[in-house]
Amino acid sequence: MTVAHSLGFPRIGARRELKFALEEYWSGQRSAADLQQLARSLRLQNWQHQREAGLDFVSVGDFSFYDQVLDTSALLGVVPERFGWNGGDVDLDTYFRMARGRAPSGQPAAACTLTKWFDTNYHYLEPEVTADQTFALSTDRLFEQVAEAQVAGFTPKPVLLGPVTWLWLARAVGGEFDRLTLLERVLDVYAQVLDRLAEAGVEWVQLDEPALVLDLPQAWRTAFEQAYHRLKAARVKLLLATYFGGLEDNLTLACNLPVAGLHVDAVSAPDELTLAADWLPSCKILSVGIVSGRNIWRTDLQAALNTLKAAQVKLGDRLWVAPSCSLLHVPVDRDQETDLDTELQSWLSFAVQKLGEIGLLKRALADQPDAVTEVELQAAAKIARGRLSSPRLHNEAVRNRLAELAKLPLARELPFSERHAIQQMARPLPAFPTTTIGSFPQTADIRQTRRDFRQGEISAADYEARIEAEIEATVAAQEALDIDVLVHGEAERNDMVEYFGEQLDGFAFTRFGWVQSYGSRCVKPPVLFGDVSRPQAMTVRWARYAASLTNRPMKGMLTGPVTILNWSFVRDDQPRAQTAQQIALALRDEVLDLEAAGIGIIQIDEAALREGLPLRRRAWQQYLDWAVDAFRLTASGVASETQIHTHMCYSQFNDIIASIARMDADVITIETSRSDKRLLNAFRDFDYPNDIGPGVYDIHSPNIPSVEAMVELLENAAKVIPAQRLWVNPDCGLKTRRWEEVQPALAAMVSAAKVLRQRFAGAGDAKRLTEDA
Ligand code: GLN
Ligand code: ZN
Repeated sequence: MTVAHSLGFPRIGARRELKFALEEYWSGQRSAADLQQLARSLRLQNWQHQREAGLDFVSVGDFSFYDQVLDTSALLGVVPERFGWNGGDVDLDTYFRMARGRAPSGQPAAACTLTKWFDTNYHYLEPEVTADQTFALSTDRLFEQVAEAQVAGFTPKPVLLGPVTWLWLARAVGGEFDRLTLLERVLDVYAQVLDRLAEAGVEWVQLDEPALVLDLPQAWRTAFEQAYHRLKAARVKLLLATYFGGLEDNLTLACNLPVAGLHVDAVSAPDELTLAADWLPSCKILSVGIVSGRNIWRTDLQAALNTLKAAQVKLGDRLWVAPSCSLLHVPVDRDQETDLDTELQSWLSFAVQKLGEIGLLKRALADQPDAVTEVELQAAAKIARGRLSSPRLHNEAVRNRLAELAKLPLARELPFSERHAIQQMARPLPAFPTTTIGSFPQTADIRQTRRDFRQGEISAADYEARIEAEIEATVAAQEALDIDVLVHGEAERNDMVEYFGEQLDGFAFTRFGWVQSYGSRCVKPPVLFGDVSRPQAMTVRWARYAASLTNRPMKGMLTGPVTILNWSFVRDDQPRAQTAQQIALALRDEVLDLEAAGIGIIQIDEAALREGLPLRRRAWQQYLDWAVDAFRLTASGVASETQIHTHMCYSQFNDIIASIARMDADVITIETSRSDKRLLNAFRDFDYPNDIGPGVYDIHSPNIPSVEAMVELLENAAKVIPAQRLWVNPDCGLKTRRWEEVQPALAAMVSAAKVLRQRFAGAGDAKRLTEDA
């Protein structure tokens, strides 16, 4: 009989119950006991769903108050010194202080670093390890939850981040050293954990080792052998789980590790399934991740069944069925989406529905599936296939226009140097021009206004009047601060992707489609289901109004095609590159409309361009090529005189800077305030040709930056970037800040720009200065 299981279930709750409970606890409005109580009831619900779907185990250990990597660090007793922990149990508040820097009790300290979890939009807390790091089993939470599941009558399969991946994700602090020197000590604790689980009567333990889908140095591949040969003495069966990609060069390694089972992601690497089935020693089970844990589409169960049946021929009862990865990355329950039309709703499958799909596949794989199973499976497959042939997915006009555009060169008419001169004539700007990234503080008032409008509590006319008033105030504030290139402030936008998705055809929005991004923070990605088109202009009205209020240049503000793509749930029936092109085409029209409305500077944000990089290096270039092409399709239709800006929220450019240059934006604004050294290296090694605004202060901090710090940053930048190509701006949008913070910070920023203008005036050619330095 085929075993069915899940790799993990969302912990946040169908109505984000955990988010709200956490925030109440943090603000002192809820007791720890109440928080624990809510957590227990969420776990029970999640297990109930798994049982109802007919799964053979429930996952335990996938629940977390913040992050599963942090949970593992706590389990291992890896708590950085600054949190003042003295061994013993890592209590809840120590845990929260590691995550957020503060908690209801204990001294605040700098939180651990949040980092993107592989290629998902989930973020984990980076473990910090020192050369003399000690490890000790330091929390019983996992064992308590195992007992909790057993008492409630479930068969638990504990899920743990594996030792090698945990160590791979850890950051060496207090001086460079080889993290692998810590492996044996890490394994000591894992061995104890497995022992305790065996004592608790656990049969299977899932150890997640997604690092196996990465390009690994040889030493780390060897570390996998070392680790699992050490752990093979455990009295539990180990299921080694890999996901988010193919194993490729690590396939034979993974197949041969001394564990009882291997899980492979057959959604992202379908071609590897046969290989894995062939290579796997006959004593091991193969868990096949066949239902996507990364998208929200109903699975074509007939196709999945065919794949599984072929594997079953080889594996017999050694075949297990599962989602491709933990269901953490999809929303909880589609059945709450009663606002969607029934057809669209029927195309979707969230975590609860995906469990159902897995259960159904298990039944269909039985020797003699019953008639009901057959009927259900056929019906489900029919709906999944119906989506692909639905006319709602196809827009001939969009496809024809793209085919036409493909014949044109996706380039500006003139090279940057010539455009630059024309732009400077059209809109003379001082040296070190100042600007911002787009958003200004989103006050409670603005959010209330948008909510009221959405809920029909204020009229469109009222809403527009209020937004106009906000724009007016924002423009006046920027003039008073003497900023050179102004923005309208984005008061009308709730979210930089949702705002555009809502106005484009081909997108749908859920009500409860929340996915955890980190801690209590969730995102609700739009659902991009069909060909994308733009029924009408999206931003022109506000941009035009803002421009009418000032004689200074007003920058139009758009979210770029790659960012919209990377932050949405995207259709799976065509390559992402093609979907990106369609978004780009719609945005290109918006760019041209802005230009026609007299907006001479247009910023196209690509905050998430780097996030889309494939996990494997050899796949990078192909992604970058189409991603940059999508940007160029958006931006290249304008006249030479129109200035295109782009913005990215990071400065890890060293390895992709040639592609960034190929975007050919006239100005790029980036984050540098927290990492100026890295940036400077990138620009020392690569002669970036266009204008750059290295973010001169960190908007994520409430601190007011000093003029001196910003002057210094700019002077350092001027050593590697010709001064005449430098812009002065914060490192990201200001929407999360308060006006009381923004006003003095921007005033200091403008002063810094003026200092630079003075210092570099009379030096004639700023290039010469660069050479002197
Ligand atoms: N224009 C957007 C803003 O200022 C950019 C946000 C971002 O880069 N994440 O809010
Ligand atoms: Zn940003």
